[in-house]
Amino acid sequence: MVKQIEEYLDELFPNPKCELNYSNEYELLINIMLSAQTTDKRVNMVSKELYEKYNSLVSLSEADVEDLKTIIRSIGNYNKKANFIKAIATELVTKYNGVVPKTREELESLPGVGRKTVNLFLSELNIEPQIAVDTHVHRVSKRLNLVDEDADVLETEMKLKEVFKKEEWNRRHLQMVLFGRYKCKAVKPECENCKLREICRGVK
Ligand code: SF4
Repeated sequence: MVKQIEEYLDELFPNPKCELNYSNEYELLINIMLSAQTTDKRVNMVSKELYEKYNSLVSLSEADVEDLKTIIRSIGNYNKKANFIKAIATELVTKYNGVVPKTREELESLPGVGRKTVNLFLSELNIEPQIAVDTHVHRVSKRLNLVDEDADVLETEMKLKEVFKKEEWNRRHLQMVLFGRYKCKAVKPECENCKLREICRGVK
């Protein structure tokens, strides 16, 4: 079953890439934080304006939060996220000399940065193999019977790490995100021509 899934993911997404734009490590970290409960497309739109106006960590740390809210107001939870942007930038400047730390412990100590954000950050920068379970990965894992229907996010992460080879975690994670985003969508998944119909419990 896993082989079938892997082959289909390879067929659909032979070169999976993260769809968030960023030009340095802190932009990646902040953009991943911003992407919770919103689309990468929307994050790319607001973050373009954000980093054009505030083009350094120091300027972000000194930004007026109300202005940050105005810039990112079209994304979910923008009030909270605007505060996180300023708080992350401030911690990176004051505690880490402007360099994003690379250990889970340090990253998770930053405001608004949780396990999923850390996993995605570490895998995207190829610091270590990881699987970040976002809403797409979680849904697809359940539909494909990789995890129980009532599995939580952490259980799903652990199960996926068991079924996929460690050296392929980063790639499989990206493929599952893209599969959930463009094919096995939350609403109206494209089941008619899906090659995983026989093993799927979410088939429409
Ligand atoms: S059959 Fe439909 S629900 Fe199942 S994996 Fe394919 S697209 Fe998703």
